[in-house]
Amino acid sequence: MAPPIRKIDISKNCIPEYGAPAGTRGISLFIVPKIWVNEDGSLGGPNDVACTGVEHKLGLHDCPTCSLTLGGKGQCRGFLLGNENQGMKIMFHMMNEARLDVGAQGFSHASAAYLYALDYARQRLQGKDISGGKDAQDQAPIIRHPDVRRMLIMMKAYVEGMRSFVYYVARCFDRKAVSGNPEEQARWSAMTELLTPVVKAYCSERGFDVCTQAVQVFGGYGYTQEYPVEQLLRDCKITSIYEGANGIQALDLVGRKLSLKNGAVFNDLIQEMRSTIQLARSRKGLESLSAEFETAMNGLVEIAGILVQKLGLKDVLVALAFSHPFMEIMGDVIMAWMLLWRGSATQPKLESIAGGPDLHQISSAVQTDRNAAFYDGQVKTAEWFIQTILPVTMGKIQSVKAGCDAAVTIDEKPFGGL
Ligand SMILES: Cc1cc2nc3c(=O)[nH]c(=O)nc-3n(C[C@H](O)[C@H](O)[C@H](O)COP(=O)(O)OP(=O)(O)OC[C@H]3O[C@@H](n4cnc5c(N)ncnc54)[C@H](O)[C@@H]3O)c2cc1C
Repeated sequence: MAPPIRKIDISKNCIPEYGAPAGTRGISLFIVPKIWVNEDGSLGGPNDVACTGVEHKLGLHDCPTCSLTLGGKGQCRGFLLGNENQGMKIMFHMMNEARLDVGAQGFSHASAAYLYALDYARQRLQGKDISGGKDAQDQAPIIRHPDVRRMLIMMKAYVEGMRSFVYYVARCFDRKAVSGNPEEQARWSAMTELLTPVVKAYCSERGFDVCTQAVQVFGGYGYTQEYPVEQLLRDCKITSIYEGANGIQALDLVGRKLSLKNGAVFNDLIQEMRSTIQLARSRKGLESLSAEFETAMNGLVEIAGILVQKLGLKDVLVALAFSHPFMEIMGDVIMAWMLLWRGSATQPKLESIAGGPDLHQISSAVQTDRNAAFYDGQVKTAEWFIQTILPVTMGKIQSVKAGCDAAVTIDEKPFGGL
């Protein structure tokens, strides 16, 4: 049963009054009305809450952020929400979902930035199309240039990988909600818990990277306010900071989530990835990609074991210094998983439109059929990510294994080494 709502005089320093423990364990939550409501339902006087400063921010200008002073005149009243000292626990009901929303926000900025960049690259005329040989037009759309296409496929890969990742976690949520089986509910709830810090941290950082790349595709115009991508870049930056900065997400992932149910939840995730490997192996042209993905996935499993082991030993500081790189690696592997999955789902459809696996048939289908072009784009994006980004991820895996301790042993005092 919900505890009764109690009115508290916030100004009278209620927390010590209850003998609250120090730190976050002593936090309580309050609902603080702006205008007090009298017992008979009529409006009373204004509460002692004042806006004491509007922040001037890098972005997110549509959403004013301010400092509030509660009880500056010693007369602020509020309602205690839940029990005393349960504030953090209650807040996390909101916080866990908010973290998923912030990951989705990072992804959404990236998606918009990619579409703007793609559209611009098709229209902006600049430089010769070198594939046209000596007859090349003087002014080709910049989408014809290999380096611009590199930027666009990078953006597309992250946007589509993040889209599927965000939807996958939403599906875990739904599975938990619709299942009447308590074991299934616990399974999907735990999977959501494991993946929440990765959605939040990885999608917010890659979202920002994609926005940066969009500014680059626009060239000088991208740096001006005439086009929308500079705003997306500024707005997106907050996603790696609020609802718990990404460093904290990474600590949560390595310090708590990896060892949920003694590692069974992480293993469950790996089993989900293995099912996709099986599927991809049965698809013509995806066999070698599935093998490359499996190598990276095994590397992820290996370093997860190394970090969890280090947490229990005197190497705990080193393990924590590698928590953010671990989150990045896990995110990269999840991107590759999602893109391989998308490729495995679309490859048979592509073959079916083309009338077979022959490259010439596929190439002509892509020229004439919109769906074939879309499906081919899925397969090629998986290929690009697994063969271009995953080798870099393998390097990051090596760096975690090497476990350099310089970040935690360097002297941090003024005039020290840091
Ligand atoms: C536009 C905007 C809107 C906001 N809206 C809200 C809101 O509606 N409600 C609300 O409650 N808050 C809000 N915030 C606050 C926001 O949630 C915090 O700014 C954010 O959680 C980071 O906390 P901090 O600013 O205290 O940074 P700090 O905690 O000082 O962190 C600074 C850096 O140190 C790192 N760090 C800190 N502690 C540790 C640790 N123990 N281990 C490892 N690294 C650590 C962080 O990762 C970060 O990189 C908002 C902030 C902004 C900018």
